[in-house]
Amino acid sequence: THFGFQTVPDSEKQGRVDAVFDRVARRYDLMNDLMSGGLHRIWKDAMIAWLSPPRTGAGWSVLDVAGGTGDIAFRIAEAAPASEVTVLDINPNMLDVGQARARKRGLADRLTFVEGNAEDTGLPDGAFDAYTIAFGIRNVTHIDAALEEAYRVLKPGGRFMCLEFSQVEMPLLDRIYDLYSFNAIPAMGRIVAGDAESYRYLVESIRRFPDRETFADMIRDAGFSRVQWRALSGGIAVLHSGWRT
Ligand code: SAM
Repeated sequence: THFGFQTVPDSEKQGRVDAVFDRVARRYDLMNDLMSGGLHRIWKDAMIAWLSPPRTGAGWSVLDVAGGTGDIAFRIAEAAPASEVTVLDINPNMLDVGQARARKRGLADRLTFVEGNAEDTGLPDGAFDAYTIAFGIRNVTHIDAALEEAYRVLKPGGRFMCLEFSQVEMPLLDRIYDLYSFNAIPAMGRIVAGDAESYRYLVESIRRFPDRETFADMIRDAGFSRVQWRALSGGIAVLHSGWRT
C-alpha cells in the first residue's frame, strides 16, 4: 500500500497505534470535527439512537471500549440518566483528556476510566448490559479476540454495538472520498497537529478493515445473535449490532 503500514507485523502493531494516539490525544477532538466536517457527531448520535439505553427506570451498566476522550460515554450518560459507563482505553493520554472533559460536563461521578486492552480487559464475566466500541476495533491487533472478550463481559441478553469506518459503495462519492482521505486528511494532520504520518496511518487502517459483511460474520463467529448492520452517510461509516444470548 501507499505508506507501508501493511507490512507491520502483529507484534508491532499495537505499539504503532499507541504512538499515533500519544501524538494526537490533545488535538483529537478538534481533528475529528475538522476531518469529518462534524459528521462524526451525527454517526455517534445514530449509534446511541440505535442502542437506545433506557431513559427512565433502572439504568444500564455500559462498557465503552477504545473510549478515548469520552464521546460515546458522554452521549450514553446524557441520554440515559441512570446509566453508568466504564470507559476502557489502552492509551492513558486519551483517557486523561476524557477525564478532564467528564469533569467539565459534570459527568465524572457516573463514569469510570480504566486503562486496558480490548483483547483482554481484565473485567469480570457478564458484567455489562451493553458494550460499545466506536472507531476503535480497527486499531486492535486481534479483532477476533476483542469480539470474544466483548461476548464474555456482556450479560446474557446484552447488546454489542460497533461504529467503524467502512467502504463507500456509491459511485462518485467513492472517488471523492478517496481523494479526500489520501490528500486532504494528511494535509490537515500536518497543518493542525503538525503530524501528517499519524493521519496517513488512520486512512490506511480504514482501507484494511474487513468489509461490513465479513465483519458481521466475525461478530457471529464470536457467538453473537441477530447481527445486523446499518450504513451511514453512503457507507463512510457503518454500525454493527448483535446480542449475547
Ligand atoms: N471512541 C472514541 C471516539 O469515537 O471518539 C475514540 C476513538 S479513537 C479513533 C481510537 C481509540 O482506540 C484510541 O483512544 C486508542 O488509544 C484506542 N485503542 C487502540 N488500541 C486499543 C486496544 N487494543 N484496546 C483498547 N483501546 C485501544
